[in-house]
Amino acid sequence: MKSVNPATGEVIQTYEAYSEKGVEKIINSVDKRWHQWRNTSYFQRSQLIQNLASLLKSNKEKLARLMALEMGKVLREGVGEIEKCAWVCDYYAANAESFLESETIPTDFSKSYVSYQPLGTILAVMPWNFPFWQVFRFAAPTIMAGNTAVLKHASNVPGCALAIEDLFREAGFPENVFRTLLIGSDKVEAVIRHQAVKAVSLTGSTPAGKSVASVAGAGLKKCVLELGGSDPYIILEDADLIAAAKTCTAGRLLNAGQSCIGAKRFIVVDKVYSEFLEYFTNEMIKATFGDPCEPESTMGPLARADLRNDLHEQVSGSVKKGAEIVIGGEKPVRKGAYYPPTILENVQPGMPAYDEELFGPVASVIRVRDEKEAVSVANDSIFGLGAAVFTRDIKKGEMLAETKLQAGCCFVNDFVKSDPRLPFGGINESGFGRELSSHGIREFVNAKTVVIK
Ligand code: NAP
Repeated sequence: MKSVNPATGEVIQTYEAYSEKGVEKIINSVDKRWHQWRNTSYFQRSQLIQNLASLLKSNKEKLARLMALEMGKVLREGVGEIEKCAWVCDYYAANAESFLESETIPTDFSKSYVSYQPLGTILAVMPWNFPFWQVFRFAAPTIMAGNTAVLKHASNVPGCALAIEDLFREAGFPENVFRTLLIGSDKVEAVIRHQAVKAVSLTGSTPAGKSVASVAGAGLKKCVLELGGSDPYIILEDADLIAAAKTCTAGRLLNAGQSCIGAKRFIVVDKVYSEFLEYFTNEMIKATFGDPCEPESTMGPLARADLRNDLHEQVSGSVKKGAEIVIGGEKPVRKGAYYPPTILENVQPGMPAYDEELFGPVASVIRVRDEKEAVSVANDSIFGLGAAVFTRDIKKGEMLAETKLQAGCCFVNDFVKSDPRLPFGGINESGFGRELSSHGIREFVNAKTVVIK
């Protein structure tokens, strides 16, 4: 396995993938550890997870640099990501016990209740785009609930995968509560089938989700799937257009546009279309892309050259079918997997920019007659992860968010973001199950009914 710096194309380090025997040994050790870990108290677990939070905070610059080198995230965003990981650790250290408190249910028995028991060893299959956050938002609740975990991280971030394992060790966790498996995606099926692995959580693309879900289904193992998205952002005629343009730009360009809940389709009502497009264009061109380790860069390269090339094909394919480039749309002539902030207008069904997820700094702008058409275009997608609506009429915004937009997370006048306190997840081809909040910690537990006559 290779770590390649996407800003230069240079190989940073190579790693030997684990053998089948090595993987088997690790899973068995993690399973063995589970039988002890499940009996630890919430107090013990929360002490350790707080140590982990402290370690994350004290190493945030170093870890941000590792992400910058392996997948191109700018340092400022990397530091923010590590701080958020510390937050999710502290959050579950404080709340896991109350979230999993037994619930008494009055019946005609002398005692009856639901007790939340850990399941065992859980497999996490994770993507490279938020190499620490995706793992920690899975690991903090899963381990606080008394499970143990094995991680198969994306093949382009082995350094991050091993750094996470080291952090658990350094925080004082017993050996084998959390282990990394350096394996390719072709080895995931065997891990899911392993009798000690009780469930799987995958964050990644929809095709990967379908493949993992079918293997998990065949083994009757539970899975949580956090998959792709093409989040619609509706701009209504009474929106604060200047604020909306700034927020939409932030939502589109975060992590160089490589976010599942990135703002991807901008659906603007006719009356304010030209004005919004002008403000939006002015904001998008402000982004300065460059070396992720340089403080003045607001955007780094994409994580890999092949991903940059795929994105450019989606843009060119859309242009061939009639989309028009407002800004960007050309591969920069320089070393590295860079792509400029790009806006496409006249985006129509049948174009990649309308139908597919664009995983990079490309915004599809779609003109609609009115609010009704805006909702219909917003819901005209195979995905259903996040959505947002911009309006000064908060009541109307809330109504659209709650009852009309088909997505797992709907925001009014802000871009969609995850927060440890709020459940996170999608519908349709964006997956199922929830992470974070009290909902997330209940995904990998046995809600056991206990009855005493
Ligand atoms: P990806 O190619 O699907 O990879 C994600 C993980 O799945 C990697 O560890 C990958 O391993 C593994 N994988 C790929 N195909 C697999 C298969 N057939 N069986 C088992 N494992 C498989 O996705 P990505 O390119 O890393 O990430 C981008 C995608 O993730 C986007 O679609 C994005 O929207 C989605 N995402 C969703 C969320 C969410 O919360 N909903 C968050 C972040 C990202 P290898 O690296 O070895 O191939």
